[in-house]
Amino acid sequence: MADFDTPELKEYPEIPHIHEGVMAHSKPFVAKEEFQQALGFPGELVDNWEQVALDKMQELTGKYRSFQVFLDSCVKCGACTDKCHYYLGTSDPKNMPVARQDLLRKVYRRNFTFAGKYFPKLVGAVDLTREVLDDWYSYFHQCSQCRRCSVYCPYGIDTAEISMAAREIMDSVGVGQKYCNEIIAKVYKIGNNLGLPEPALADTLEGLEEDIEDETGVAVRLPLDVKGAEVLVVTPSADFFAEPHVDGLMGYAKVFHEAGISWTLSSHASEAANFGMFIGSYENMRKVSLRIREAALDLGVKRIIMGECGHAWRVAYSFLNTLAGPFDFLDPNYPVPQHILEFTHDLIQRGALTLDKSANDDMVLTFHDSCNVARASRMGSKPGGQFTIPRDVIRAVCNNFYDMPQDTIHEATYCCGGGGGLLTDDLMELRVKGALPRMEALKHVVEEHGVTHMAAICAICKSQFAKIMPYYGFQMDSIVSVHQLVSNAIVLGDKQ
Ligand code: SF4
Ligand code: SF4
Repeated sequence: MADFDTPELKEYPEIPHIHEGVMAHSKPFVAKEEFQQALGFPGELVDNWEQVALDKMQELTGKYRSFQVFLDSCVKCGACTDKCHYYLGTSDPKNMPVARQDLLRKVYRRNFTFAGKYFPKLVGAVDLTREVLDDWYSYFHQCSQCRRCSVYCPYGIDTAEISMAAREIMDSVGVGQKYCNEIIAKVYKIGNNLGLPEPALADTLEGLEEDIEDETGVAVRLPLDVKGAEVLVVTPSADFFAEPHVDGLMGYAKVFHEAGISWTLSSHASEAANFGMFIGSYENMRKVSLRIREAALDLGVKRIIMGECGHAWRVAYSFLNTLAGPFDFLDPNYPVPQHILEFTHDLIQRGALTLDKSANDDMVLTFHDSCNVARASRMGSKPGGQFTIPRDVIRAVCNNFYDMPQDTIHEATYCCGGGGGLLTDDLMELRVKGALPRMEALKHVVEEHGVTHMAAICAICKSQFAKIMPYYGFQMDSIVSVHQLVSNAIVLGDKQ
């Protein structure tokens, strides 16, 4: 199956002994010239790349105060060293968060601090060389920007911010990552990550309407580009065809049907994902976000609801208003934007849905908190809503639910191993090894409680788990969408 060994699942997680350089070979494919240029970056490594990189670093430390504070304030306490799933899964010491940060910090020190300029050896400062750039390319693409390490750092240093800046610097000298940059270029050209054009999207949605009617006898619509609809739903394009994502999309449609609220998808904003965040480029993040604004204005909707996607919810929750706002043309009675789980949760609280929990009795569920939802956003009006709302919804539609161990959920959740722009087959070894801590936690509830399925609310988590679970002996279809569970349990026509 692969030219690497899948780590062994232990009963209790173990902190591995270090193995220097074992993941130095892991690098994603480099973006081609046409995709670099589509995003406004040089097509290939520029001649004076060292100076361009340092200029960019200076620009970013000036623009983002947090970036400079993070570079200046690490005291090497070591609290973060065993918190990264990529270190736990690979044992490469450069996957310890502090060591990853230091790859960039030592160049920053050499060029932008007094001690680094005059006593470089004393403070571990080094010049920016091709070897250093190669290390950056390798190890800043072994960080899924999950922010778990920042939770344990007494100074709140966020390695995700440093890895985003490093990727932006690399893009600015012409060394971008193929997977992310090609996808962003596709969104500009066609509207979604998958390159699914409007006629294909319309056909797909029609097919799903037929499937629901065949199965339930009820005509549930999945509308596209309907002007004057109340709600615009922006969802990851994986929801349009991949398993288990598509079952979640059918769940959204059934919820809107039962609520009697008109809604529409948009062919212009047919993608919730925003890979501009993964490459640290606010300019590209803004351009992708603007498509949502344009679609909302064009369709004349009153509300925007985001589908199940982790980083898309972070971008929407934390940045949409500043990047693409103001959204003063929407109904002020609703948050901008809302998450589909907030919407469904509210309907459940108000008794607006009839649910038959026994429809999910063939499953014993657990729930994987997605990093960007858990550590970079919120849901609902109460602190911690991002943890309680998905669980409330699952408990409302299932009889059998058990959480994984406390130190692996909520704020302490482990990344699926494929986030942050790493969900590409050229990084398969990293993805499999990085999933180790989550797989160990899953094994625990499988053995303790007979858990058969894990639910998630992120397109990347779902795709990653479907692919890597078989490496650890789990079935690929044991990952499910939360709205797939809602879809199974909802009794259609009951509230009409
Ligand atoms: S942000 Fe996540 S992936 Fe990156 S170093 Fe920290 S724990 Fe590891
Ligand atoms: S926990 Fe924070 S201060 Fe301590 S080594 Fe890690 S990044 Fe540095």
